[in-house]
Amino acid sequence: MTTEGRQAVFLDRDGTLISDPGYLRDPVQVELLPGAAAALTALAQRGYLLVLVSNQSGIGRGLITAQEAHSVHRRVVAVLAQAGIALDAAYYCPHAPDDACSCRKPRAGLLFDAAREHGIDLHRSIMIGNSPSDVGAGKEAGTFTIFLRDGGSTANQVDADAVASSWDEAREIVIAATGDRALRS
Ligand SMILES: [Mg+2]
Ligand SMILES: [Zn+2]
Repeated sequence: MTTEGRQAVFLDRDGTLISDPGYLRDPVQVELLPGAAAALTALAQRGYLLVLVSNQSGIGRGLITAQEAHSVHRRVVAVLAQAGIALDAAYYCPHAPDDACSCRKPRAGLLFDAAREHGIDLHRSIMIGNSPSDVGAGKEAGTFTIFLRDGGSTANQVDADAVASSWDEAREIVIAATGDRALRS
């Protein structure tokens, strides 16, 4: 059998962990979404690495400076820390769509980088996000995928392994799926 890798929950940021005002550049606007902190705490307690994976095309489009992006990231880390949560890693794609990079979700470059650098078994890991591109990235990487449907979302036809309407529901899906060791085998 193969060497056991670690299990991770890959987390989209905007609209999933925190509210999404669009091209977020002001740290003051960082606000955790309801249920996110409790869910992350439960998942970390079950041994999942918490890995943030976020498209930030505002950088590539010239709408956000790298410094603003760093400030927002530091604020996200601080807000999570206030809730007792430590991210294990964070990966950002700074590119614009026209850059045709391999890391902008739905491409899976961020997840592949994380897997390589942290010894993560992608097939026993989970991607959670509020966009079809999150589901696409998870699928390309071979993770279990959970589409977190936000209030206004009309994307009902997303081809995710599971759909959750809240963080509480997402947490229950993960915990139920973790009972048997392998999510996808
Ligand atoms: Mg999102
Ligand atoms: Zn990229």
